Amino acid sequence: MSTAAGRKSIFITGAASGMGRSTALLFAEKGWFVGAYDVNRSGLDTLRDEIGSGNGMFEVLDVTDSTAWTTAIDLFAIATGGKLDLLFNNAGIGNSGLLDEQAWDDVMRIVNINFIGVMLGVRAGVPLLKNTPGSLCLITSSSSAIFGTAGIPVYSATKHAVRGLTEALSIELKRYGVRAADLLPGLIDTPLLSDGLRQMAPAEGMWRLVKPREVAETVWEAYGADRVHWYIPEELRDFHLQVVAEPEVVREERTALLAAMTAVG
Ligand code: NAD
Repeated sequence: MSTAAGRKSIFITGAASGMGRSTALLFAEKGWFVGAYDVNRSGLDTLRDEIGSGNGMFEVLDVTDSTAWTTAIDLFAIATGGKLDLLFNNAGIGNSGLLDEQAWDDVMRIVNINFIGVMLGVRAGVPLLKNTPGSLCLITSSSSAIFGTAGIPVYSATKHAVRGLTEALSIELKRYGVRAADLLPGLIDTPLLSDGLRQMAPAEGMWRLVKPREVAETVWEAYGADRVHWYIPEELRDFHLQVVAEPEVVREERTALLAAMTAVG
């Protein structure tokens, strides 16, 4: 088994693809020891070939499985001497459909992965984080946690849940000297993004298509700073301010958007 040998370490869920994968590559470039976890074995193998097996751990972990979390964290702790500088709870799935028309199993699957999986990860990772000065607990929320998003209501609700969880953790974990923050990404060019949204993304502005590398760079910036919310792109902060000031205007705009999305999809 490879070991961190004094290097800083990051534990990433959803590391086989998209934003998690880009973050794993960036932190490896920076000389960190990378714990890459996912349900996608072949994606992890490709990542290991790029990063090098001596520079991390590349293991299957289903974030909804609490026993698997304990095993993964215990083995990671052996490799890092009980340290963890950055826990990146990032794994998630997309899901679309109107709430009253969705199969209940689909609803619970997204709640389990996007929300329960994050809570399990935080509970498993806190002992290592509190053992590591300057550590950060980072969670991937979404721009759909700024205003409830019709067409993806359950996804959007899970992302509101993790945003609220992050805010609470940013206070609770202070007693251990651990920071907590979340990412609020807009439209990121990964396999998770629906073709409909990809087609509708404008060339500029807050809803432009963003490369996953930009998200990885924000994770890097977040480690070195003390902020609760990270908007990607930064212009999404203006959308958040508008939601607070005039939610009924946003509701009317979003009603038109749902109609357009239904037409595209
Ligand atoms: P992605 O599909 O490229 O990557 C997600 C990864 O999570 C995949 O490798 C997948 O195998 C893994 N995963 C799924 N279920 C899992 C489970 N039960 N246990 C462990 N791993 C699991 O998508 P992405 O866009 O990189 O998504 C990363 C995060 O970003 C997600 O939480 C997503 O909701 C969020 N997000 C994405 C966008 C976007 O536009 N792509 C926008 C906002 C937020």
